[in-house]
Formats: sequence, structure tokens, C-alpha cells
Amino acid sequence: MKNGLFIHSLRIEYRENPIGIDEPAPRFSWKLKSSEQNTVQSCCRIVVTGEHGVAWDSGFCADSRSSGVVYAGEPLLPFTRYEVSVTVRDQLEREACTQGFFETGVMQESVSGWNAKWIGYPPEQESRACLAFSKSFSVDKPVRSARLYATACGIYEAALDGKKAGDAFMAPGWTSYHHRIQYQAYDLTEALSSSGTCSHELLLTAGNGWYRGFLGFADSPDHFGKEKAVLAMLRIVYEDGSVSCIGTDESWSVKTSPILTSEIYYGETQDYTKPCEVLGQAVRLDHQDVTEKLSAQHQEPVRITKRFPAVSKVLTPKGEFVIDFGQNLAGFVEVNLPKSEEGSLVLYHAEALDKEGNFYPETLRSAVSRDEYRYTDKDTGKTVSPHFTFHGFRYIRAEGIPFETDLSCFTACALHTDMEKTGSFTCDNPLVERLVKNIEWSQRSNFLDVPTDCPQRNERLGWTGDAQVFSGTAAFQFQTELFFEKWLADVSAEQTAEYGVPHVVPNILGSQPGAAAWSDCAVIIPWNLYQAYGDIRILEKQYGSMKGWVDYVTGRCRENGLWMDGHQYGDWLGLDAETAAVSDNRYGATDRYLVANIYYANSADIVAKAARVLGKKEDAERYEALHSRIIEAIRREYVTEAGRLVSETQTACVLMLHFGILEEKDIPVVLNTLEKNLGAHRNHLVTGFTGTPYICLCLSAFNRHDLAEAVFLKEDCPGWLYAVKQGATTIWERWDSIKPDGSFDTSGMNSLNHYANGSIGEWLYRTVAGISPAEPGYRKIRIAPTLTHGMTRAEGTLDSPYGIIRSAWTCKDRRITVDIEIPANTTAELVLPEKEEILTVGSGCYHFEYPTETRLEQDRYTMETTLGELVADPEAATLINSLSPGMLDSPMIQYAFGMTVSELSAASEDAGAMFKAVLQKLNQH
Ligand code: BGC
Repeated sequence: MKNGLFIHSLRIEYRENPIGIDEPAPRFSWKLKSSEQNTVQSCCRIVVTGEHGVAWDSGFCADSRSSGVVYAGEPLLPFTRYEVSVTVRDQLEREACTQGFFETGVMQESVSGWNAKWIGYPPEQESRACLAFSKSFSVDKPVRSARLYATACGIYEAALDGKKAGDAFMAPGWTSYHHRIQYQAYDLTEALSSSGTCSHELLLTAGNGWYRGFLGFADSPDHFGKEKAVLAMLRIVYEDGSVSCIGTDESWSVKTSPILTSEIYYGETQDYTKPCEVLGQAVRLDHQDVTEKLSAQHQEPVRITKRFPAVSKVLTPKGEFVIDFGQNLAGFVEVNLPKSEEGSLVLYHAEALDKEGNFYPETLRSAVSRDEYRYTDKDTGKTVSPHFTFHGFRYIRAEGIPFETDLSCFTACALHTDMEKTGSFTCDNPLVERLVKNIEWSQRSNFLDVPTDCPQRNERLGWTGDAQVFSGTAAFQFQTELFFEKWLADVSAEQTAEYGVPHVVPNILGSQPGAAAWSDCAVIIPWNLYQAYGDIRILEKQYGSMKGWVDYVTGRCRENGLWMDGHQYGDWLGLDAETAAVSDNRYGATDRYLVANIYYANSADIVAKAARVLGKKEDAERYEALHSRIIEAIRREYVTEAGRLVSETQTACVLMLHFGILEEKDIPVVLNTLEKNLGAHRNHLVTGFTGTPYICLCLSAFNRHDLAEAVFLKEDCPGWLYAVKQGATTIWERWDSIKPDGSFDTSGMNSLNHYANGSIGEWLYRTVAGISPAEPGYRKIRIAPTLTHGMTRAEGTLDSPYGIIRSAWTCKDRRITVDIEIPANTTAELVLPEKEEILTVGSGCYHFEYPTETRLEQDRYTMETTLGELVADPEAATLINSLSPGMLDSPMIQYAFGMTVSELSAASEDAGAMFKAVLQKLNQH
């Protein structure tokens, strides 16, 4: 930082120096660091230089954007490296410069660019084994660069001379293969030039994967096709400028591989006891139509991102050898093969032990998740792991090896799309800190190329509702732009006028009409991305799909302007259904069409806003009018004249308030209903997928942060901290996935790694730490931290498109401190805790400190305290007697001794006010 201005984190298509991109107009982003406060970029210049000279020189233009700047030069050529140089100046005329590069791949339009043919081995259809396609070749000139472009109908791994190409897993990833298949690019220059030999072997091993493996509730195979196939070309550019291409064709041979079988749900079997043998020649497949669906890998690949050593082993009461890795995750176990008298090692996977301490694989349903290695002594010590499967687990059960086996032989490898980690939330409440970790781990486990519901059972599908409710939180924790751009392309591809947006994408469940909150992913996720990253391209790309979904719903509305039929998930897994005791009632109590129509209103509103952003004035007006009409219709159908709701559940109140459906005059009525409902549940939530993301956000926004805190801090069931107290290391699918007595929900749908209820993360970042975008992409930031009971210190950080935003507060010993960091090239509006005015600040670090009367230290008495506990304290009894004379003398009072303050407060406003005053006074010291 010579002159105090520094430019860093240059990203091209959100990646660092990417190779093999197909995007004709890549986006550039960079971040600034400055020694001064209030730094603003005044102009910038981007120069892109290809092999034939400058392809784009933007010149110095007065442009303050440093994120999502779109290439506007000559058409990009395939297989070409482009150097990128970005120079910026700030308002003080200081200059900073950075360099990077990108390399194009085959480029979408040039199907003819594939100097290779799809190949397969049809007799394999019967065996389902994982065969390998191999080609020997020689290189007799110095190599300048070597790139492998490859893909498969199935999952594949490529290797050059026995060494795996790249570090990605589960390639080519899961897309709606009927419409789109990605290919990957690998840099093999080093591998080819440094091997010291001129003879080489290129090998592609292929598994069934999502393409033709067993998937779905029915565990059925061949969802996208019956034949596994691979396509690859190694493009070598020599020092003398000549180019050669080794592409898949009939000259490739087919061999067996050590991988006998591999299925995503069932696990993998590898056999090292027999040598691999050549089966014959590859067969050319007529897959021209598949080539037309190819596009370059869009997002970061799936990689091993963390390794967990085994932490303990146990011989369970059933006598089984079980190993604990301490963290529930998606991935697999890497093994240094230990000595095995039986000549094989078999590993089973599970998320939990039952209350007796036995291995409990029931949450996997029919997904067997069994990995087997067959080997002899000579293989002892070899490091092995599965190639074409993954499991959701924390524990393994080992067979075939003695209990004395060293734990160091086993390492759990976490596998997921390798997004940049952007957010952190810390505080001095260890339960909350663990909750945040659990949310992070459920995101890691379920952002495995597509956003899945869960990573362990025979499902692992791209459930649209789960992704939708979690997308806001997800964007605080990780950079999710590319991950969702790729998946949303599949959402659009699978959307039809007849059925709308499917419930799972890629859709393997067949056609069924779209459902609210699930299909609304098509509208809500692009909008959430636009808010988080400020990149208009996501709206441009998805606009048709967003509008399409709203129009689909409009087409199904009755004369009253509302959507009143078809299958709806309602408030999925809400606990308030009358028959909730029967754990199979999954829909919650909230009127399902009320949920559906509020989502419809919200989506119409978003489409109107997106149309404004895109300059589509007519559309904007049309959807604004539609939004107003839906609101009117909902009010007519669901709100009485006095302002009461037809469905008075927590979720109904929360959604009505949060999505602005109510008339001003009715807001206090509904807030009151919500408070009463919560009180009746001793301030526990009973919400499902649709109410949970908003309950705390809504209470805090409507000046009931005290209630939001109470709900959030519950340590018994149902509540977020309950699972934490039960030892959870990920978010559970159900509030009571494991019951207080240690038994499990046995409805057949009980995952311990389901991110939907992790949507509370957004409240921690937005409300407690107080970080939110005042303008899309955080060009303008709003910082409004909220003092919250249960902690005396909290800190949120977010690596935004412009750099690190930090908001930290403490409230201790009657003093508040606030520390804020605002990145260069942005401004922030700041609302300090317990202050009214809005401060506007530029980039830099700020510290505030001032006195307060607020005490956040753990209270002696809470809303959970029972009346009996309270009156045992003579000071409390005196206070109650003075504020509510005679109350404690009532002959009936003993019946109330077992009730909590929150239950008693729900009885009347007077009682509520009285108990509030009593607690305040008692907790003062
Ligand atoms: C999934 C859910 C999903 C739901 C909808 C379940 O099996 O795991 O998370 O949203 O089905 O029916």
C-alpha cells in the first residue's frame, strides 16, 4: 500500500484466475483497502489482453463500481488466455493497480470445438460397475500448456499417469441433465511436462452418479439415461506454437477399475485383490444432442474443504466397533488401510448413537451408506477413499478390523461446493456460538453442488422450499452467487407453463403442479442474491422465470383473486397442527392457502421491484397493481373487520406482519394475537418452514425484540438452543428430532442435518449484529446493532462485495461500546443501540462508547421463572403485594404457583405489565 490505496481480491466471474469459462461477457470485481477514512473510487480502467493484443480497454472512466463490472470488448475466443489489469483512482487521485487472468474454454456456441466423441461400453449396462476409459499417447516436444476438458453422463474422475487431475469431486456436478450438462477444465501442464517421460496414459473412470444411479423415495435408477458415457479432450499447445488434441473416440480402451460398485445412496466397494483388466474397445455413442447441452462449470467445484481426525472409539453395548469424528457432515472417510485378518474393511455411516449408545443409522432410511475395501497385506497402509459417493455422518461402524486399530487410520473429509466463507457471528453465549457453527455445518453439508434438503437419507434432493427459506442466511455465511446462479439456471430449465416450478430441482419426482414457498424459490432466491451481491445479471437471467411463476399462480386464481386449491405444504413441520401428536401430521395448523397467497403477494411485489431495476416500466406497474390486488383479496378473505385473523397461528401472524399485508390499524391487533399465542406456549415457537425464518425478524422489527429474545433463547423444546443442548453439531429437520428422553422421531423423516431451521442465522446477522444492505450489494450499508439478552457481547463480520463489514457491540457494567468497520468505496447509515439519530459515515473504523441503564448480564428471574419460585423470594412477594394487592391472598393462588411468568402474563395486559415491572426491579441487582 505505497500511497495508502491498495486493490485486492480481483475476481473474474467471481473466481480467482479461472480457467475454462464459457461466459462471453465475464464480470470483474475487486476490493479496495485504504489508509484514509471515506475512500471512494472515482474512476477505473480495465484492460483485457488476449493472444492477439488488447481485446478491451475501457479507458479511465468515471465509474465508482468495483463489483460486477461487465466485459465490453471484442468477442472472446475459445481456448484463450486473457490477461486482466485493473487500475483505479480514488477521490484523492491516489492510484492502485492489480492483475489477474482468465482463460476461456470451448465456448458455448462452438459444439464443433469438441474434438472428441462421446464413448461408452454398452455391455456395462448390466454390470453397473465403474469402468475406466484409457488412452496411451506420447509427447515428444516441449509443452507450453495442456488442458483437459472433460465431462460424463454419470460422475467421472480423470487421471494422468495414475494421478488424479485436479482436486474436484462429483464432477460434472448435478444439473438438469435433460437440459444442461457441465464440463470441467483441468490444467495438466505441470503433470505432463514434469513427468520426465514421453509416454503417458490418460484415464477416465466413471460412476453412475445422479445420472443413472438409484435416486429418490423409490430408490429407482436411470433418471436421466441408461447409458454411462464420457467425453474428453486433452488439448496440448507446444512451445513451437503447434497444437494437438487427444479426444475420446473408439481408439480408447475400456478397463475394469478397483471400484466394483458405487452408488450415491449405497456407498462404494473397491477391490485391490485383483489386477485391472482390459475388457475391449470403447464404443462411440450418438450423443450429438448431449454435446449441444454442454456448458462450462459455472460455480466453484465440490472439494474436500476440511478434515476431521477421529476423536474417539467405542465398543457399543451391541458389541460394535464405532468411531466418532465429533462433527456431523457430508463427505466420506479416508482410510489408511489397517491390517485386516479378514481381507476386507467395511464402514457403515450414521449421524447419531441412540440413547443406549448403539450405532443408529435409522435417519438414513434406505440409504445403506456402506463402503467396502477388499485388500491383502501388501495394500496395508495405502490411503483409500470413495470416488463417486458421499455420506451424511458423524459416526462410522467398522467391520473386518480389530478394535485395537489405531484411530489415526481414519479421517473424515467434508465435501461440498467450495464457496468462499464470508460471514462470522460470535458472542459470549457458547450455546449461540455452537448454534451458528451448526448452521454453518448444515450449509456446508447441503451445498453439495445443488442445495439439498439433507445429505444422509435416500433423498438428498434439491428441495426448492428448503433452499428458498435458507437462501438469506446462506448469503451471510458464504459467497453463494455462483452456486445459486448455476442452480437457478436449472430451475428455469425445469419450469413449465403447465406445472410451474417443480418441488425439487433437478426434478426426478415427475410433474406435479408447483406449490407455494417451494416454487417461490424462483422469485425469492434471485432477489436475495441481488440484495446480497448487487449483481443485476441474476435478475436479467432469471426475470422470465420469476415472472413465469407469478403468472402461473395468477392463472390458477379464483374469482376472488386468490389461489385456493392444489397441494400446498403450508407451514411444513409446524408443531401446531391439532394432530401434531401423531408425528405424521407435517403441515402445521396455519391455513395452507393463507400461506400460499402471502407468498403469491410477496412474489408479485418482488417481480415488480425487479422490473423497476431492469427498467421494465410497464411490467413494474402491472405487478405493483397485482400486488395491491392480492393484498386486498387476502384482507377480504382472512382479516375480520376488527383486525383478527381467520387463522390465528404464530406463522399466520408473522407472515401477515412481515410481508406487509395488514392495514396499519390492524397491526397492533395481530401483534397482540401473536404475543398471546406465544405466551400460551410459554414463549416457545411452534412454527414450521414458512414461519420460522421470519418470527424473530418480525418481532424485532415490530418493536418486540424482547419477545424475539425470549423465543430465541429457549433451551428446551421447541427452540434453536434445545438441539444445541442435546449435543447437535448440525441443524435438525425437526424441533424434536431427538426427544428430551433421548429417543428419536420415528416418522421415517428425521434428518439431523437439514438447514431450513438454520434460517435464524439471518436474524443474528441482520438484527443482533445489525448488518444489512441499505442498497443492493452493500454499496450502501445499514448498521443497526441490537442489544440482546443472553449475551453481553456480539460481533458480526461480512466480507461483502466491497470488503469486510464489521459490527461489534458490548453492553457491560452499564456501558455500551460499538465498533464498526466500513469498507472502502461504500457508505453506511448507522443507528447505535438506544440512540435515535441516524449517522452517515464513509469507509473506515469507528468506535463509540456511552453509558446505559441496560443490563444484559444473566437475569436472576426470567419469563420462565414460575410464580412459586418468584414468591419464595421475600422481595418479590413484597413487590407483588404492593403492585397487585390481594393477589397472593387469593385462595386459588396455589394453582398458579406452577405457572411461569410468561403464562401468567398472557392472561391480561395488567398482569403482563405488573410482572414486567417486578422482574425489572428484581433483576436490577
Ligand atoms: C424434505 C423436505 C422437503 C419436504 C417437502 C422432505 O422429504 O426433506 O425438507 O421440503 O420433503 O415435502
